[in-house]
Amino acid sequence: MAGLLFTLALLAALGVFAARRILQGRAKRKRKRTIADRPGYSPDKPVKISGFDEIDDAIAMWRCPCGGLLDRIGEGSRPGMRVVRCVCVVCEEDVDLFFDLSELRH
Ligand SMILES: [Zn+2]
Repeated sequence: MAGLLFTLALLAALGVFAARRILQGRAKRKRKRTIADRPGYSPDKPVKISGFDEIDDAIAMWRCPCGGLLDRIGEGSRPGMRVVRCVCVVCEEDVDLFFDLSELRH
């Protein structure tokens, strides 16, 4: 009898665990979609800049969706674009920022 109760308790715990994992996954996907709609947060919507100092300003002003500050950890480039990889100091999520260089001052 004790063995059966233990099995039931274990199954219940596993069920709760699985449900929580599924819900967390959904919330994360939704958050990713929301963030990609913002200008500068996806390669489809880069922010036009006229100088590289605007990148520094953006990193100082923009926030992770959780509200945390962003810390620059790396940089890369795509054709006509500068990509700055940041990490949120609160939730430690990677956030890539995209800047369109087509109107850069020369
Ligand atoms: Zn965050």
